Amino acid sequence: MVPRKEIVSKFFSKGKFITPDAIEYLEKEPSLIELALSLEKTVIKVEDIKKLKKPEEEKPILIIKKEREVPAKEYEEEIEVENLCDFSMKERKAKDFNSYFISRLQNIQEMLMKRINPISISNLRENGEIQSIIGIVYEKRISPAGNIIFTLEDFSGFVKCIVNKESEIFKHAQDILEDEVIGVKGIYKNNFLFVNEIIHPDFPAKEKVYLDIPIDAIFISDLHIGSIDFLDDIFLKFLDWLKTSKEAEKVKFIFICGDIVDGVGIYPGQEKDLRIKDIYKQYDKARDLLAEIPDYIKLVIAPGNHDIVGIPEPQPPLKDTSLSELPNAILVSNPCYVKLYNKLKILMYHGYSYDGIIQSIPSLRKVGYQNPSLPMLEVLKRRHLSPRMDDTMIIPHTQDYLVIKEVPDIFHSGHLHTTSVMNYKHVTLINSGTFQAQTEYQKMLGHIPHPGIITLMNLQTRKVKLINFCKI
Ligand code: FE
Ligand code: ZN
Repeated sequence: MVPRKEIVSKFFSKGKFITPDAIEYLEKEPSLIELALSLEKTVIKVEDIKKLKKPEEEKPILIIKKEREVPAKEYEEEIEVENLCDFSMKERKAKDFNSYFISRLQNIQEMLMKRINPISISNLRENGEIQSIIGIVYEKRISPAGNIIFTLEDFSGFVKCIVNKESEIFKHAQDILEDEVIGVKGIYKNNFLFVNEIIHPDFPAKEKVYLDIPIDAIFISDLHIGSIDFLDDIFLKFLDWLKTSKEAEKVKFIFICGDIVDGVGIYPGQEKDLRIKDIYKQYDKARDLLAEIPDYIKLVIAPGNHDIVGIPEPQPPLKDTSLSELPNAILVSNPCYVKLYNKLKILMYHGYSYDGIIQSIPSLRKVGYQNPSLPMLEVLKRRHLSPRMDDTMIIPHTQDYLVIKEVPDIFHSGHLHTTSVMNYKHVTLINSGTFQAQTEYQKMLGHIPHPGIITLMNLQTRKVKLINFCKI
């Protein structure tokens, strides 16, 4: 220890004063005496000397990581899931196909009965009067004369229907999809029904449903983790925003609508497009990334056609993957209904049928991919997620799980890799884009994706904001 007197005289000889506590400090830390003498101050205080100390010499400070206090934590989640998939069915027999079609026709017939008063096809009479029927579209074609001819089937029989090419409803008739259930009105003559009105089940405007607590939900999909085009830096930006930004403080739910990973063997030659070539490792990576999301946020995760559960729909939840290790994950089927706080109903459907629908509906062919709400609107009005059987390789269950039995408040899809939000009769239609950059395949088809965009909805006001992490 350097004696007190010596310290005082050193400072005094340089014309400086030093406070008693500063002297005491220097007694213990004599290495700082020379530095303190060079300070351009007349009165040297202990704070001035402490500042001279090199940071590494400071005693280690114990950092206790304090969890962020955010409004979303104040509210317990209340969530009810209705998986639309019959897991007990193992084998499928011919009679299952039968009961499947009966279920489809009966369910949608019931909805249409609210709009028209039909008779059975076998009761059609050549009486010159307008008669109404409901049936499944069995086949549809254009006649050599350019008219549209389609066959409708109900429980009593078949009838051929004609829409004249000069008719006002010809454009509407072009949009009719095979296997969909519709109502038609027309005059029966020479064994043909001459159609003058086509009716889809649709639904009357809903009352707009709001939550009475201030929480938000995020809608995303098509992460394609494992693909060489997965935008990990953009996804990390999103995760960082979730953990640190003021704007994310009310987020309580994240809905992820399928294609969590890129999968393996989904299309020929996929191998070269994969960064992670083992599907289980793709899910491990997905788990590690999603584990960054704070636990108070619930993740509702549905599968898509790139996931491990196979393409045919409905698809069971992703239970046998490492995603089930996430404590805050709720793994659901595709499609499924999720009800929040016993109030707000969300229908999640990945959207595999939309490719076929865009091809089959002439008015959507050019615009369907850039405005993915349009095919969503078509399935909603038809009250069926995949009206054409061929579009999704539907697995026939004893009932048709793809019928939209209940109109949701929010209808969430993905698959098309483009983002859009639309309101229709107080239902919010969200297609939530992707976190995958444009793939070679998409380049070839001329599809331009909208990557890195999330849809943030305030569930108390139903206001929606799109946030683009490619631009942040
Ligand atoms: Fe996808
Ligand atoms: Zn997909």
